[in-house]
Amino acid sequence: MQHFLLSAKSRDLSLKKIYKMGEAKAYDLFRAIRWPETNGEAVCPKCGCVESYDIKSRRKFECKGCKHQYSVTSGTMFHSRKLDFVDLLAGICLFVTGSKGMSAVQFSRTLDVQYKTAWVWCHKMREALADETDCITLTGDVEIDGAFFGGHIRPENMKEERIDRRLKKHQTGQRRVVVALRERGGRTLPFVREREAEGVEIARGVVAKDATIYADEGTHWDVLEWEYSAQRINHSVAYSYGNGKHTNMVESYFSRLRRMVEGQHHGVSPKYLYQYAEHAAWLEDYRRTTIKGLAHKIVEATLKATKSNRFKGYWQRAA
Ligand SMILES: [Zn+2]
Repeated sequence: MQHFLLSAKSRDLSLKKIYKMGEAKAYDLFRAIRWPETNGEAVCPKCGCVESYDIKSRRKFECKGCKHQYSVTSGTMFHSRKLDFVDLLAGICLFVTGSKGMSAVQFSRTLDVQYKTAWVWCHKMREALADETDCITLTGDVEIDGAFFGGHIRPENMKEERIDRRLKKHQTGQRRVVVALRERGGRTLPFVREREAEGVEIARGVVAKDATIYADEGTHWDVLEWEYSAQRINHSVAYSYGNGKHTNMVESYFSRLRRMVEGQHHGVSPKYLYQYAEHAAWLEDYRRTTIKGLAHKIVEATLKATKSNRFKGYWQRAA
């Protein structure tokens, strides 16, 4: 079977298509992405009315119901940005097609926008998609695992100059563990903590009581066996027993996150680790969604995030 990412079906949007279509069509496409349920016909963000006057010269709409004036970007993070729609779409396209994410430097250079614009834009998109899985409960088969990121100390070449990284005095305070819970066939929920054992409390909060939890031999997971139907995998013995008893799904998530952090962002501070963790989870969960479908999800997610006022003043601070 052909890999999904290589199939023509998955490529319903590309940089080539976007720049070839030009600004007018890009505007129409952005409308279709923003309002898929009406196939691009304007929907009033205030009252939900679908009847509007189209003020074409200003690319604005006036609601026939409540007289509210709005544009296709009103209420989204792209509002008030003076970017052309081709660039807007191209940015979203780049963001959702980078399977290991993309650094702000590369984003800025590829799109020819200022570094700060690229940085804020990427962070806002990541924040937005992190909100999508708030309040989700995992059911069925759920894999749990932890992996450490950050706080790397470069090993010295000379043996006598090497230091023992396990010693407290040699730790940088930058090291964090990402605890991830992944429902097979469902969503991946990452959490950034200082100790992997904190994952137990997290599991209690997000995993349904009748779910089956799959965890490795780490002794801190032992208590899960009291509260859940739990399957343990001893990695020092085997990686999979061939009977569904494995944590391969959550490990494939960590491998994507590792490649993202090390390959694109060249390490990460604890402050932003959760953003990359959420981005990798999103890419993993939607790995079979078409590019246009992903673009719609981004616009939808940023719309919700903007409503929650999370981004108030974010642009101003970064300018
Ligand atoms: Zn209205």
